Amino acid sequence: MDEFGLIQRFFNSIAISRTDVLLGIGDDAARLIVPHGFELLVSCDTLVSDVHFLPSWDPYDIAWKAVMVNVSDIAAMGGSPSWLSLALTLPALDESWLNRFSTGLKAALSTFNIALIGGDTTRGPLSMSLTIHGFVEKGRAVTRSGAEVGDRIFVSGELGAAALAVEFMNTEHIDLEHQSTLLEKLKHPIARIDLAHDLQTYATAAIDLSDGLSGDLMHICEQSQVGACILLDALPIHPLVAYYQEDACEFVLRGGDDYELCFTIPAERVEPFHRSISEAGIACYEIGVIEKDLGLRAIKGSKIMPLIARSYVHF
Ligand code: ADP
Ligand code: MG
Repeated sequence: MDEFGLIQRFFNSIAISRTDVLLGIGDDAARLIVPHGFELLVSCDTLVSDVHFLPSWDPYDIAWKAVMVNVSDIAAMGGSPSWLSLALTLPALDESWLNRFSTGLKAALSTFNIALIGGDTTRGPLSMSLTIHGFVEKGRAVTRSGAEVGDRIFVSGELGAAALAVEFMNTEHIDLEHQSTLLEKLKHPIARIDLAHDLQTYATAAIDLSDGLSGDLMHICEQSQVGACILLDALPIHPLVAYYQEDACEFVLRGGDDYELCFTIPAERVEPFHRSISEAGIACYEIGVIEKDLGLRAIKGSKIMPLIARSYVHF
């Protein structure tokens, strides 16, 4: 099997069809149609072996995670994902590896009806670069720059489990049964596409949580030219993080890989937002407020302290 046979067998075969894809895998470029009245959202994420995943992982999980971290960026804009291209670099043509990888890829893509529209396949150290496309109604995208003083800060879901999995992977500090719960959170995030419509309707700013809550919230603050105060007692900490980490709040503030969303909502819109998400059965937690003073602060009991944004940085 050569490169073309590989593409045909493992990638062309899993591409679902969509009416907005006139031509997908197989030509020099894909031909695509952005539906009338919508804007195109585009985002790219690279995953490198030993940095974002371990080469020992089931390739199914690597593919799942690669798709979800990309889809998460579309979710954070209040959009709906549509198309993916995949630039894959492999050390060797390993059929059983590719089989598991393309099965995981198909599972993740069909979860959100995303078409694989093309890519590139090369030999080299294991890594992949994915470009996700999505749509949002004209003028309705939620950016990082719209937070206003007085807005309430929210996060979706419970935080910290994936970071705890990274910290404690394969050590004896954690019960085996707990390890598998944590690894599940690390390897099988589900991008929060289900919040897209409520974000469009209620949120002034949003970001997805990839590098740690404090650092990611700081991006909203910097781009909106505001500050934030977080109520530490209100942080939705995953129960296993609370159980294993002495300073669970600190851990959640700097821990990455949650792929939940952090967003801001004007105070007077909080109630209708709560009604809307409880009808939809989505758990979101109010954790603080946007303030005029730049930078981050945290409240613990009656004490206010400055908070240094700390998150994962590559360089
Ligand atoms: P070119 O040499 O013109 O760049 P390629 O030979 O790299 O084209 O790829 C042939 C076709 O297969 C193209 O349509 C490309 O988009 C698609 N393709 C290549 N690699 C992948 C992949 N890993 N996943 C999906 N599609 C792929
Ligand atoms: Mg090529």
